[in-house]
Amino acid sequence: MSITFFSFAQNQKIWYKLSRTSPFNLSTFLAKIDYSNLPDDNIQKFVGVNKPFNNVSYEPADLVPLQWRSHISAQARHTFRKEAADALEKMANAFYNEFWTNIVIASAYRSYGYQKNSISESCKQSWRCAREWESEHQLWLAVDLWEATNEEKFMSKYQKYYDWLHDNAHLYWFHQSYQHWREFDGYYIEPRHWRYLGTWLATKLREKNITFTQYVNLSNSQNK
Ligand SMILES: [Zn+2]
Repeated sequence: MSITFFSFAQNQKIWYKLSRTSPFNLSTFLAKIDYSNLPDDNIQKFVGVNKPFNNVSYEPADLVPLQWRSHISAQARHTFRKEAADALEKMANAFYNEFWTNIVIASAYRSYGYQKNSISESCKQSWRCAREWESEHQLWLAVDLWEATNEEKFMSKYQKYYDWLHDNAHLYWFHQSYQHWREFDGYYIEPRHWRYLGTWLATKLREKNITFTQYVNLSNSQNK
């Protein structure tokens, strides 16, 4: 009984907090940024189903290795943009303080060519996998954590880690890109996939419970 009551009380508290931040004012919330036209090396660059990224040779100048960063584990060598790597390390330290275990990188940067060759024909037919021109992994700003698996399997193994990320990742300006299903984000829900956004926007999106894709779509419709 006490657990149920506690959850209920917590939810009421959260709802109270959220309701105090309303009313939702779209025009003040939306930044005047033209996401369709940002330079490739802009940290806020948007890539998605409706916004292909065809710069096959893209490589930003500020790449650093993720190895040897505290409380980040990876089986392979990964590079990441420096600002995002610093933020990821801070997040991993906070995560470690909570769980006494490292954040594990299952996948980070994936090139256009790799994405093109690695996805199977069956995968291409669905919205399970990003095509080579729509993957955030090309930006050196996105990671898949622990295991590149589907929502159900991921949650059965890593629910408590996910819950922590859901509550805290935005403080380090990371965002779960695919969380509201295909109609909104173009893909299945991916609790493993976190993308660095580099601004307060990550916190705003978390607060309003919308994804970057939804935000960009709203932003575009407002700017028309
Ligand atoms: Zn991913």
